[in-house]
Amino acid sequence: MRYDYLIIGGGMVADSAARGIREQDASGSIGVLGADPDAPYTRPALSKKLWTDPDFGRDQVSLDTASDTGAEVHTGTRVASVDRSNSSVTTESGERHEYGKLLLATGATPTRIELSPSPRVVYFRTFADYRALRELTKTADHIAVVGGGYIGTEIAAALSLQDVKVTLVTSDAVLGGHMFPPTLAAGFDKGFSGHGVTVRRGTKVVSGAEASARVQLQLDDGSTVEADGVVFGLGVRPETELAESAGLAVDDGVIVDEFLRTEDEHVYAAGDVANYPDAVLGRRRIEHVDNATEMGKAAGRNMAGAADPYTYTPYFYSDVYDDGYQAIGTVSTTLNVIEDWKTVGKEGVVYYLDDDAVVQGVLMWNVWEGLDVARTLLAEKKPQTEQSSSGLI
Ligand SMILES: Cc1cc2nc3c(=O)[nH]c(=O)nc-3n(C[C@H](O)[C@H](O)[C@H](O)COP(=O)(O)OP(=O)(O)OC[C@H]3O[C@@H](n4cnc5c(N)ncnc54)[C@H](O)[C@@H]3O)c2cc1C
Repeated sequence: MRYDYLIIGGGMVADSAARGIREQDASGSIGVLGADPDAPYTRPALSKKLWTDPDFGRDQVSLDTASDTGAEVHTGTRVASVDRSNSSVTTESGERHEYGKLLLATGATPTRIELSPSPRVVYFRTFADYRALRELTKTADHIAVVGGGYIGTEIAAALSLQDVKVTLVTSDAVLGGHMFPPTLAAGFDKGFSGHGVTVRRGTKVVSGAEASARVQLQLDDGSTVEADGVVFGLGVRPETELAESAGLAVDDGVIVDEFLRTEDEHVYAAGDVANYPDAVLGRRRIEHVDNATEMGKAAGRNMAGAADPYTYTPYFYSDVYDDGYQAIGTVSTTLNVIEDWKTVGKEGVVYYLDDDAVVQGVLMWNVWEGLDVARTLLAEKKPQTEQSSSGLI
């Protein structure tokens, strides 16, 4: 089998890249080889809408890649190797596919501890993980969630709205404390307790065991948490093995240039797996959906001949209970923080400045307009004062 455009990975980038290719080339053949048993779907819904929006059903997660673009989507198909000298890839089951242009869109894999995944132990990433967790909630009285990042907090919030007891284990002293200024973090944290979540703060899971339909987690403070199941959200690592074994440069992701091309002009990479030169933020790897959508489309267009540099700086967002935020750049309390609230803790903007007072990140809390202003502020790279940096609300 030969495709003009072959995409490895059947996730969000695969969908947007196929659409980008079609903007430039109406008829070239597109193949998608994805390890996931499901065709491309909207991943953020797995920890949000599918739990919180009764009008949003499982049949709405599909991105309709094949029907919208004509791509041939092969699900449950893991690629084992890439042979750049023969412009071909080989799947784990031994099938060989040739390509004109290749896109590495293999995303990222959840960090695990030494506890094997099972129906009771979920390293949350896929639609199948969502289905497994839903199944577990039918019988479980108590589920532990490990990790206070956005996957952990969203899943803990989602589960607490079901008929199940939730314990959330976080290394943060206060939930959100690594991103939000103290008053905001305190309010965010309180929202979980208010919904009946037991939060175990300032501690990490060091090991776990599954026995007799229970899971036991050992924490580094010497205590244990026992539950009917556990969901881990401990961050991810980029899926770079194929690129590495194909001899491509990898350094926290597959290295690409501003055209999203690796050092091989026939091979591109985009999304969670790609380390690219952001026009504003500098070289980095981003694990967010706006990046997957925009970069995937740009990579697809360039594979099909557009030759446009990728200059878009993506944002990210999260929703927990009745609050939501969008953010751009580096949002970390290790930076200096300026807060600008319309209503304290409810609606406002937080600016993250380095020691030279240059804005490195902007967090917009329940504020849904003004991303472009935030982007401009980051791009200016000039020192701000408390007065000059406000203006988003
Ligand atoms: C539960 C959840 C909620 C999220 N919510 C948000 C959010 O609210 N806001 C936000 O900004 N971002 C969010 N994200 C992040 C966002 O979904 C990702 O950044 C985006 O999906 C990345 O797209 P991708 O195509 O690079 O990777 P993925 O969508 O992960 O797709 C990669 C695909 O490659 C496949 N693959 C890997 N190796 C191989 C191989 N060797 N052969 C074949 N296939 C392979 C995998 O099976 C996978 O399907 C969320 C992520 C998760 C998991």
